[in-house]
Amino acid sequence: MCDAMLGRLARYLRIMGYSTKYSVEEDEKILEGLGDCILLTRDKGLCSKAGPNCVYISSGDLKEQLAQLRLEIGLPLRLPERPLRCSVCNGPLEYVGKVGDRELWRCKVCGQPYWMGSHIKRIKRTLEEVNKTLGFT
Ligand SMILES: [Zn+2]
Repeated sequence: MCDAMLGRLARYLRIMGYSTKYSVEEDEKILEGLGDCILLTRDKGLCSKAGPNCVYISSGDLKEQLAQLRLEIGLPLRLPERPLRCSVCNGPLEYVGKVGDRELWRCKVCGQPYWMGSHIKRIKRTLEEVNKTLGFT
């Protein structure tokens, strides 16, 4: 569960295939809806209320945020073999088929289309950079 300050990180987590809620609700609502989720927040006060299932994200920089998750909770930073999860709504993706020479997936919940485009390559490079900085290959 990412709070409102971590929208970009939430998108990255979903593209990596991790089920990620993104909440712009007030603190109480976030805590109520937390369940078994790990809360990621840039709000120290909220984090202390959430107890042990919270990671206080100290940096505003995406790469540093990813590095923190790799180091603190051992989250592998890599892309799945094929797109799994909608970066907009967290819904599961289904394979549509080949359109031209591109393989296409679609979100089962909101209908958003996905393919392995240049944005995925950019994200992959970002993840590789962070892994390299940390000494993981
Ligand atoms: Zn969706």
